[in-house]
Amino acid sequence: MAETHRTKVLIIGSGPAGYTAAIYAARASLKPLLVQGLQPGGQLTITTEVENYPGFADMIMGPELMEQMRQQAEKVGTENRFDIITDIDVSKRPFVCQGDSGDTYIADTVIVCTGAQARWLGLEGETTFNGKGVSACATCDGFFYRGREVAVIGGGNTAVEEALYLANICDKVTLVHRRDQLRAEKILQERLFKHEKIEVLWNKTVEEVLGTDQDGVTGLRLKDTRGGEDTTVDVSGMFVAIGHDPATKIFKDKLDMDDENYILAAPNSTRTNVRGIFAAGDCVDKVYRQAVTAAGMGCMAALEAERLLSEDDHAA
Ligand code: NDP
Repeated sequence: MAETHRTKVLIIGSGPAGYTAAIYAARASLKPLLVQGLQPGGQLTITTEVENYPGFADMIMGPELMEQMRQQAEKVGTENRFDIITDIDVSKRPFVCQGDSGDTYIADTVIVCTGAQARWLGLEGETTFNGKGVSACATCDGFFYRGREVAVIGGGNTAVEEALYLANICDKVTLVHRRDQLRAEKILQERLFKHEKIEVLWNKTVEEVLGTDQDGVTGLRLKDTRGGEDTTVDVSGMFVAIGHDPATKIFKDKLDMDDENYILAAPNSTRTNVRGIFAAGDCVDKVYRQAVTAAGMGCMAALEAERLLSEDDHAA
């Protein structure tokens, strides 16, 4: 039977931002309720080794890291619920949210930590070789390609930054772009063109990811968008950097967003335009997109929610 849950702090999303917000809110005796969403644990549950999250000298696997965060959040007093928030009324406080389960959530404050998802090209090989040569995060996985040759797909800031990052680690980086000009900022383009380890292949799209079970990715078959012959490039890694989609659909026309649907927060804050609603992690941040930066923002959001609730108490 459908239930109604009442909470001071509702956290939507269960990635590093959500669980960190939960840990801080719980330790402030706010008894937060966290609704996990479609992919409990978030993007890290689909990665393998995580070597850049501080505190784990022995590498930890992404799913294990998220399980630890979940347990930590519960241990200090978070109520985790397996549900998906499908609607929110932001017109008055407390906020009323609907769950996919039929449950209703009534919250004095809401911390939105719904994250983002990398866009993929839609090739079969992306699934076959995920974690075996295919990645959407150079900062996360670049280290595993030390001294090897890799390709980056895309022409925006992310693709160029990833190519530059990888060029410090790999022997050679090939940037594959579907047009004859990049959309990345000029200063990044200049750095890219100057880098001796980076080659740009213009007017090419990836048709097929080549590889074997044993070796993972061994190359890419590229199509010439101007009608030339297909070519292949030998690489052991393909980093897809064609953009991300923030999971912010239910907040459309309710919270202020930029033109790419990232939620806008006040400078040095997680406050949104609606008093009592905070946003943290990849649903806000299109620049850093790291577990540790998301966790930091989750902490900020919980502290800001707590401050607002105590202001309310004083005003009452
Ligand atoms: P963008 O949307 O800016 O760029 C995506 C790139 O991928 C484009 O070059 C696009 O090609 C290409 N692309 C899209 N779909 C396909 C496809 N199916 N096949 C092949 N290529 C494809 O995404 P980013 O992630 O680079 O950036 C997102 C936002 O984040 C931007 O606003 C960016 O400025 C910002 N950002 C800022 C950073 C910073 O300030 N340091 C760092 C990273 C991102 P085409 O050009 O032909 O459309």
